[in-house]
Amino acid sequence: MAIPTYEIYALKYGGPYTRPASMVNWFQDIDKNIQINYYIFAIRGERETLVVDCGVDPELAKARNLAGYVNPAEVLKRLDIDAQKLKYLVVSHIHFDHISGIKLFPRARIFVQEKEYNFWMKNPIARRAPFLHVTDPEANQYLAKLEGKKRLELIRGDKKILPGIELLLVPGHTIGLQAVAVHTAKGTAVVGSDLAHTFSSYRTDIPSAIITDMITWMKSYDKIKTKASSPDLLFPGHDLALLENYPKVAEDVSRLV
Ligand SMILES: [Zn+2]
Repeated sequence: MAIPTYEIYALKYGGPYTRPASMVNWFQDIDKNIQINYYIFAIRGERETLVVDCGVDPELAKARNLAGYVNPAEVLKRLDIDAQKLKYLVVSHIHFDHISGIKLFPRARIFVQEKEYNFWMKNPIARRAPFLHVTDPEANQYLAKLEGKKRLELIRGDKKILPGIELLLVPGHTIGLQAVAVHTAKGTAVVGSDLAHTFSSYRTDIPSAIITDMITWMKSYDKIKTKASSPDLLFPGHDLALLENYPKVAEDVSRLV
């Protein structure tokens, strides 16, 4: 049987936010600012739909006063995706802007790398200041309670979870970041999440400044570049261009491929 093809959508749920450029692209333009958005991604095939990342929960968004925030479940509705009923949720990594909204997907099977899970749930280092800074403790508690339940799938390394959908372990930004390789009409595309904050990282090899292991990160770039059918099928996690440079299919939603 032929491998099904999927379309990939970027859904903005927050932003734009102004950040020091050197935070988004490590040590570059240290006297400048740059703007980023917060996104989740939808991968839609003829039979199955997956969502990559959860966005931020409405309560945390309020507490953090997130500008331009829309409940990720509302943004998904613009693609006729019901978060309540979603079957497949891939968590790229356990930073707050990717995990906080997990309660919005009560029925989904959750795919997260075991290494990532164990670090954030069990390693005392994850409670230290630099890690706490990017944590949503409530979402992590919710995740911790899922351990051993059927809903939670802890992945070890690369794994094909559906025909045409492969999870890839690409650490560096976090200890167990995962990307999603997707079979599309244009070949294999990669939803890379924060493997790169912006497209430029894939061109220049300069990642963001939020680093767990820079050497590992470079190897992850090599891995992902051989995986994608072409460089323009590598998608970053926070670039404004994800929305601006691709066909708009609904408010704050674009089709990447
Ligand atoms: Zn991150």
